Amino acid sequence: MKNVIFIAPPAAGKGTCSDFLKAKFGYKHISTGDLLRNVDKESELGKEISSYINKGELVPDIIINKLLQEALDTYKGNPIILDGYPRNVKQAELLETIFDNYVAIYLDIEKETAMKRMLGRITCPKCKKTYNKYFDKFKPKNEGLCDECNSELVSRNDDTKETFDIRFDTYINNTLPLLEYYDKKDVLKKVSKDTTETDDILSSIEGFVND
Ligand code: AMP
Repeated sequence: MKNVIFIAPPAAGKGTCSDFLKAKFGYKHISTGDLLRNVDKESELGKEISSYINKGELVPDIIINKLLQEALDTYKGNPIILDGYPRNVKQAELLETIFDNYVAIYLDIEKETAMKRMLGRITCPKCKKTYNKYFDKFKPKNEGLCDECNSELVSRNDDTKETFDIRFDTYINNTLPLLEYYDKKDVLKKVSKDTTETDDILSSIEGFVND
């Protein structure tokens, strides 16, 4: 089973793909966004992190790299999904020294679809399962409550129209160059934006990790 790096714009479906890989193959999921959001918001570090996230900008590498290293140490020996890391070429170069046997999966998606998905996204704060109030297939069974643990679902502070454009631009400028980086290493796999059915996307992903 290969380790996984997801490269995708905000709300492209990394959460759904990760839930599938976790349930089917026992992957451990490291979301660097979650690692950052879990830092105590009242601490100096937490306040600094929130100031970047709420603007839609990337948090400085020095902060995220430490959190990532700790998470990788925790899950050593398990197949791992990296969701949200690397976000730029410098991070990819660092990752190269501490992570191997991976496939980089590019989830392509139209900007408008990403925006609609982002605005409808609701997440369980406890078990991290993601839902979407604008898409029937992804609505929770009981409005506003997690199907798995019944916790109240929440929207993220940075899932707003205002930050979306900044986050999307950050993605285009910093993260998209990773496609060339991983293509050169011959580890890049792509799910086309024409593949829109969730089951088709998940079966492509299953093929990539077993390749
Ligand atoms: P995400 O949950 O992946 O959408 O990330 C939410 C926010 O956390 C991003 O908009 C960034 O501000 C920050 N973030 C997450 N991962 C990284 C990373 N690898 N490098 C820098 N900032 C990050």
